[in-house]
Amino acid sequence: MPHSVIEKPTVPAPATFNVEALRDDFPILKREVHGKPLVYLDNAATSQTPRQVIDVFSDYYSRYNANIHRGLHTLSDEATAAFEATRHRVKAFLNAEDERQIIFTRGTTEAINLVAQSWGRSQLAAGDEVLISMLEHHSNIVPWQLLAAEIGFTIKVIPVEANGALDMTAYRSLFNERTKLVAVNHVSNALGTINPVKEMAALAHQHGALILVDGAQATPHQKVDVQDIDADFYAFSGHKIYGPTGVGVLYGKKALLEAMPPWQGGGEMIKTVSFDVATTFAELPHKFEAGTPAIAEVIALGRAIEWLEGVGVEAIGAWEAVLLKHATAAVSQIDGLRILGTAPQKAGVLSFVVEGAHSQDIGLLIDQLGVAIRTGHHCAQPLLHHFGVDATCRASFAAYNTLEEIDTFVAALNRVIGMVR
Ligand SMILES: *Cc1c(COP(=O)(O)O)cnc(C)c1O
Repeated sequence: MPHSVIEKPTVPAPATFNVEALRDDFPILKREVHGKPLVYLDNAATSQTPRQVIDVFSDYYSRYNANIHRGLHTLSDEATAAFEATRHRVKAFLNAEDERQIIFTRGTTEAINLVAQSWGRSQLAAGDEVLISMLEHHSNIVPWQLLAAEIGFTIKVIPVEANGALDMTAYRSLFNERTKLVAVNHVSNALGTINPVKEMAALAHQHGALILVDGAQATPHQKVDVQDIDADFYAFSGHKIYGPTGVGVLYGKKALLEAMPPWQGGGEMIKTVSFDVATTFAELPHKFEAGTPAIAEVIALGRAIEWLEGVGVEAIGAWEAVLLKHATAAVSQIDGLRILGTAPQKAGVLSFVVEGAHSQDIGLLIDQLGVAIRTGHHCAQPLLHHFGVDATCRASFAAYNTLEEIDTFVAALNRVIGMVR
């Protein structure tokens, strides 16, 4: 095996979750912001990167940078092997049936656009219906709206309950014989709600519809099994699971992917190209991977998943639940603070608004104290409007966050609120 992987995980047992040891893997966590130690709580936007992943870039570009799948020389063979090793790792990570069902994309957004433009454009017709949820990220709304404007199908929205859980009774009632697709996130980036996607998939299939699951926020926090969920499509992004930007994954059921037309055309995705007879396309997965991919990023994604699995994704999820509980209890003491999203099944996301204080001001001032949180609409404007707000503050947790950091954040928040009110 060339450079593909196999380094001992730095953090051994989930039972002894050692957050301090694990923090040593992240050089960025040692930096200061405005003279204060960084407290990074914007993990739902992007997670930080362990040195094992960072090192892939210098290793790749100093030792085996070459284009892949063209063979014929050693460097290309090594790059191809390392690139394909990630596909193999992702297959196991998602428990996909076959690694040809793993398509590399630029991220979740591109994966969803691929499904919309290839499957959607060829399968949806005027009068058809697509169900999406009120909780969706813009990247699982807008691709469907763009296509609906051309084709004339209808988008129906699954509503949420007051606590941010999906209204499953309403979901059941939205189906009819024209429902072709359900597109829903596994975990909401704005509220942290964990959706019952397995149950949702079963209902979709009973009605002859497919289900696409946006897993951008689920993959960093919980074990995902696409076969158990029975997802037709599943998407995630590298940069939210301790990997680099510029790479993500689309998983699809094989029969669907095989029947789907190519989306982007170019090199790598063809079998033969001719001006005289029809151009023919490559087999899966290459049919959907036109052009030179982000080779180093894909290899680094493999390393990120290795890191994640070394720590244990379930152990990480359990640790984040501890952080969430601690943070929720602490901010609940703050006068006039309202938490959005209190569903019983929730990942490590804490969204809130504070009476008499603009979220934007809180975000700017708390940054002065070294604390990075997200303020704004979190790419989920319809959801926030539903709750009657334009913006929230959002603290979101990752494996390397500590209880002390939560205390620092809450103290900083109290200080900032005192300044603006
Ligand atoms: C971040 C995110 C996306 C978009 O991911 P990109 O990496 O920006 O393509 C989609 N859905 C959810 C739930 C997200 O959190």
